[in-house]
Amino acid sequence: MTETSVFSKIITGEIPCQKLHEDELCIAFNDISAQAPIHFLVIPKKPLVSLYECQEKDKDLLGHLLLIGKNIAQSKNLKNWRTVINTGEESGQTVFHLHIHFLSGRKMSWPPG
Ligand code: AMP
Repeated sequence: MTETSVFSKIITGEIPCQKLHEDELCIAFNDISAQAPIHFLVIPKKPLVSLYECQEKDKDLLGHLLLIGKNIAQSKNLKNWRTVINTGEESGQTVFHLHIHFLSGRKMSWPPG
């Protein structure tokens, strides 16, 4: 699958990021437009467009992304955070490469807007 999203360029290093973690499966970095005092993203290197495209074979990868995000949150001594995955334009997805938002450092409200 050819992919030209901004996140594919972050993976290749064409676009810089404030990297928090990298391994063979994923990268985590600070969101460029933070919506909370702490706001970072965990993305797979595999070019998945969204959760919609994920299949049974991706279950280990999806678990890995969540645990990496949790480890980063705990390394920042966080005990409370919100995890968000926007899927599709109507949900608010603007970058069409799967990513998990981790937000923390302020009180969150519910329901989300
Ligand atoms: P979403 O709206 O769920 O698709 O989230 C996309 C997120 O990517 C937004 O929170 C953007 O601020 C963030 N974003 C876009 N470009 C960059 C970039 N170059 N570096 C870091 N975060 C970015």
